[in-house]
Formats: sequence, C-alpha cells, structure tokens
Amino acid sequence: MIRRLLNNVKKQLEPKALVLMYHRIAELEPDIWRLAVNPENFEEHLRLLQRKWHVVPLAELAKNLKAKKLRNKSIALTFDDGYVDNFLHAKPLLEKYKLPATFFISSGNIGNQAEFWWDELERIILHSEQLPFIFDMQLEGIHVFMNLTAEYFLTESIKANHRQWKAYVQPPPTARAMLFLKVWETLRPLPHTIQQKHISEIRDWSGQTCTTLRPLCHSMTLQQAFALVNSSLVDLGAHTVSHPDLAAHSKTVQQQEILQNKKFLEEVSTDRINLLAYPYGSYTPDTMAVAKETGFTAAFTTDSRPIKSGSEPYRLGRFLIENWTGDELDQHLKQWLKM
Ligand SMILES: [Zn+2]
Repeated sequence: MIRRLLNNVKKQLEPKALVLMYHRIAELEPDIWRLAVNPENFEEHLRLLQRKWHVVPLAELAKNLKAKKLRNKSIALTFDDGYVDNFLHAKPLLEKYKLPATFFISSGNIGNQAEFWWDELERIILHSEQLPFIFDMQLEGIHVFMNLTAEYFLTESIKANHRQWKAYVQPPPTARAMLFLKVWETLRPLPHTIQQKHISEIRDWSGQTCTTLRPLCHSMTLQQAFALVNSSLVDLGAHTVSHPDLAAHSKTVQQQEILQNKKFLEEVSTDRINLLAYPYGSYTPDTMAVAKETGFTAAFTTDSRPIKSGSEPYRLGRFLIENWTGDELDQHLKQWLKM
C-alpha cells in the first residue's frame, strides 16, 4: 500500500514534456480528420503556451531526454505534412510570439501544386456537386461497390452531415462517406504510384478533370519552404517523400522514402535533419531500425503520451491538437501532464 502510494508520488514528481502535433492552421470545413486549427484559436494556443509553459525547440527536448535532463512542463510544437498554410498562417504567428517549432515535411508535393491523395479523394467523393449513381471498381483485388443514387447530387443536408463527421470517432453518416472511408482504407497501405493510378481512375469516374481546385490544400512551394526555414525559430524534420504507411512496406522502401526526404530537406535547410515523424504514426521495429541507421536521433509517432525520462527515442509520443480555444487546450494539457 505504502509502496504503491510512494510510486504514485514518484510518478507525479517525474518530469514530463509534451510534444504537440499540428497539421494545418486554417479554416477548414468539413475537417473529418480534425487536422485544422483556425488562426484565431492557434493564436490563443500560443498566448497560453508562452504564459504557462516552457516552449523549447523539439531538438532541444530530444537532447535533454538523451542527457536525462528533461525539464518538467517543457513543450515542443510540431507541424506535419508541409501544407501551404504552415507558411502563410503558422510562421507569422510563431514569429509574433517568438516560439520555436519543427515542421515535418513530406517532400513529394513541395512545389508541385497537387493535393495529397487523401485530400483529392475527399474532394472528389465528399465535395463533388454531382457523382455517377454507381461506384464499382477493383482496387488491387478488392472489389469496392457503392450505390450513390440517393446522393448523386450534393445537398445541403449531406454537406451538413459531412461537416459534423469525425472519421473513426463516428460511423460514416452518408453513402458518400462510407465510400470515401472504404477507398481510403484500401489505398492507404499501397505504394504511391498505385495510389496515384487509382486516384486517376476515380477522377475519371467522377468526370472531374481539374486537379488544382483547392490551392489551400497544396503543399508549400519550394520558395516558401526556403522562406520558412529562413526563420531562426523554425527547424525541419523528416516525414518521407510520398507519405507512405511505412508499416505496410519493405525495409528497403522505408529506407528509400526516409533517406530521400532527409537529403531533400537537408538541401533546403542547409542543416542536418535529425528528427523524423512517421506518416500516419505507422511504424514497425524495422522502421525504428531504419531511423536509427540513417542517422536520426529521435523519431515521433502519433501515440498520445507524454515524454518521460524512460521514453524510447524512436517511438516518442505526440498529442494531436484540435480546433480548440486556448481554455480548451489548457484543460487538455493539464490532463496530459497527469498521464
Ligand atoms: Zn503526415
């Protein structure tokens, strides 16, 4: 009993750090993956963090962990993927509050004015004004069929359903959402070229030809990436070339994706890239070995857990930050510190 009590006290006294995971600083509706924080809320987050927490560069946090000098209530900000809004909205606010951040960038889309496959899939299936009545396709041996007759035209009520939908938290509310999720799950583990082949087939099926409809869903241009890293508050981190589900690929493919991305980002930043975030938080022991062998000092998952002195450096946790107000974030941070 006393030992358990002492252990609990020890656990509470143990220094803990948090790594926050943002993706987009933008108004986004619908936002089925809950990845966008609007600029007003983001500014509230920064004000709160500046007032109550020790915001440190992620590299410093990783270094302190290694040296067993983790500072309690230290926090690091991270952004995944490399969307253009990171440059347009996140960078100016970070500079206003003088807070550092690490941007984990998937380099395949930098400067090519294309959406990531999941964004294009969402745009076609959830946002198209009209779709054919029937979806009937073989996707790598998986037969995907959906009758969309009742939803071929995008009504206000379907849009409202999609605005409220949180994928994987709630079941899909429409046939379009069901189809989207089924195709998303089928495509996610596939190689990039096969994903693109199927996205192109789905684009043809939908009758859409334009691929550049949502410039705010693009990645940064190369010039923006250069300008981003020009800020002394910004570090870059690796996030692969094509954002693969690493656990679904061979060690060789994982190595290529990680190394090519690392080299690209090292040229952009003229600095060593030592930190890696696994796309979708997906990794295996092979992935951790690749991260170590290719010279990374730490790698991050999407598992929600704080960083403590015993945390394994190649599977460090991060917390997904949703479109919360400053007060809401404050509540979450307090809870996470107790974990
Ligand atoms: Zn990502």
